[in-house]
Amino acid sequence: MLLSLARMNRVRAIDAANLTMTVDAGCVLQAVQQAAAAQGLLFPLSLAAEGSCTIGGNLAANAGGTQVLRFGNARELCLGLEVVTAAGDIWDGLTGLRKDNTGYDLRDLFIGSEGTLGIITGAVLKLYPQPRAKCTALAACASVDDAVALLQLAQARCGSLLTGFELMGEFALALVRRHFPQLAQPLPPSPWCVLLELSDGESEVHARSLFEGLLEAALEQGLISDAAVAETLAQSHAMWHLRESIPLAQAEEGLNVKHDIALPVSRIPEFVASTDAALQAAFPGARLVDFGHLGDGNLHYNVQAPEGIEAAEFLRTHEAAINEMVYAAVVERGGSISAEHGIGELKREKLVHVKSPVAMALMGSIKRALDPQNLMNPGRVL
Ligand SMILES: Cc1cc2nc3c(=O)[nH]c(=O)nc-3n(C[C@H](O)[C@H](O)[C@H](O)COP(=O)(O)OP(=O)(O)OC[C@H]3O[C@@H](n4cnc5c(N)ncnc54)[C@H](O)[C@@H]3O)c2cc1C
Repeated sequence: MLLSLARMNRVRAIDAANLTMTVDAGCVLQAVQQAAAAQGLLFPLSLAAEGSCTIGGNLAANAGGTQVLRFGNARELCLGLEVVTAAGDIWDGLTGLRKDNTGYDLRDLFIGSEGTLGIITGAVLKLYPQPRAKCTALAACASVDDAVALLQLAQARCGSLLTGFELMGEFALALVRRHFPQLAQPLPPSPWCVLLELSDGESEVHARSLFEGLLEAALEQGLISDAAVAETLAQSHAMWHLRESIPLAQAEEGLNVKHDIALPVSRIPEFVASTDAALQAAFPGARLVDFGHLGDGNLHYNVQAPEGIEAAEFLRTHEAAINEMVYAAVVERGGSISAEHGIGELKREKLVHVKSPVAMALMGSIKRALDPQNLMNPGRVL
């Protein structure tokens, strides 16, 4: 059975003093951002699908997006939920409390459960003050090591004002140049490019001076070789558009093996170097599309067929072996095989290989307790 919450699209209330808003689960993310902005407030969840995805879907998938390093993922942006259970009851957990230690946390069971435990119908979301100024830049790095060192420098100098830190490999940007030549790339090609964003509650002048100081220090320390700072909102949007065009350029290039992985940030440089080398040795000519939310340790580490090789055939022959190699490297380094895209059906079989028997048994018990007839999204996750 299919269920649409499209008509449950009401912003129920905004409590500016409590910095919360209560919304129907069918609200489109962008509409929620706009409703908050209309009150001078910020709902910071932001992702390329924001014009179509819904709060219910965001919470069910525990979406991440571009500002996780500052505000956390959807789970951390939600204080309360309203859920229709598999038994047909309505659980009203629409609390706006930041502290509530009264028993098990039911909210956190439903968030990230991909619709397998109940239907989210409403949510209380956390809001923040709107920043007064934003600065965006692209910076050229010679290595992922340098990009991680730049992240550390940015965190040390800017603290919580750092709201975006995205990594883009040169091949990822070359694909954008090939398929979307109309999109300006302000920096000449370099092995790696970082998109940084700072959001400041004080003033434009304060933000600029902090940002320029950061970039000058990074240049002096040799962490970056070049940088382009957005002078206008349009230029800032263009930089984000460049980053968001990578998955689209990949799709234009052809089928590819996708990975949405998380690692401790400190392990990413060595992971990329050794896994790139291992993949290229095992699958000569395979093209690696490395990009993602470096600031929170989430990489979209994708593998495109060698130039001139039929992509579908390459995937048929090699996808399983590529997955095995990448996931083994991720698990070995304490990472996750699904950072923000969930398990769904595609990764269900893999879950048992990366979770302990105890964790699988606990998840099974929860599923059986809340949905004994397996009515909710059967076949997903477990
Ligand atoms: C272009 C693009 C870019 C993206 N970028 C990012 C990104 O940067 N970061 C990121 O984390 N994700 C990203 N995503 C994935 C994104 O997180 C999900 O598409 C989105 O959060 C899901 O919301 P939705 O309304 O589309 O849900 P759907 O896709 O409709 O559903 C997702 C899952 O949640 C379940 N579900 C939906 N609504 C409810 C509900 N009310 N109650 C219970 N279960 C429900 C569905 O059954 C399904 O299992 C991207 C997707 C696209 C298409």
